[in-house]
Amino acid sequence: QKLTNVPLDLVIGDTIELINWRVKSTGVDLIVDIEQEPLTVIGGPVRLQQVLVNILTNAIDAAETGTDRRIELTARREENRVAVTIRDHGPGIASSLAERIFDPFFSTKGVGKGLGLGLSISYNIIKDFGGELRVENHPEGGALFTIELQSVQSGF
Ligand code: ADP
Ligand code: MG
Repeated sequence: QKLTNVPLDLVIGDTIELINWRVKSTGVDLIVDIEQEPLTVIGGPVRLQQVLVNILTNAIDAAETGTDRRIELTARREENRVAVTIRDHGPGIASSLAERIFDPFFSTKGVGKGLGLGLSISYNIIKDFGGELRVENHPEGGALFTIELQSVQSGF
């Protein structure tokens, strides 16, 4: 599929609108911190939104099981890339499972609850964009996903 210039800030805004009902119904606290300048990245807007929905939905699933229901989303320019981070304060990912969470059909959610395709699809989408999708556990707990995308410098 074709790659184009994508206004990341707008796609993030659309994504938040799309998942807002789940944010409200689960009582999670979504805290968004986006750099205040046009963040244009290489990709496809629909697929990028799909990735953000997948990772945010997982973060909501993790956050709603705990007492700290904050989810933090940041977007920052870094040299020739833009990094989007999504962090929850849930249980994090057991080190024994970390290798497998990007595998198709890997899920720890009950039958009928998770197909286990979200992260594998997301991984491939970001790879197609020439970017990178990573996960680590935050030292203070919870999972931290980082999406790195190629940025488009706004020229004059
Ligand atoms: P699904 O959500 O259908 O289970 P995914 O591919 O989206 O499939 O995620 C695979 C697995 O990765 C999940 O079942 C869960 O075990 C783990 N995972 C993903 N995101 C998180 C998170 N934020 N915190 C803890 N575990 C996570
Ligand atoms: Mg999922």
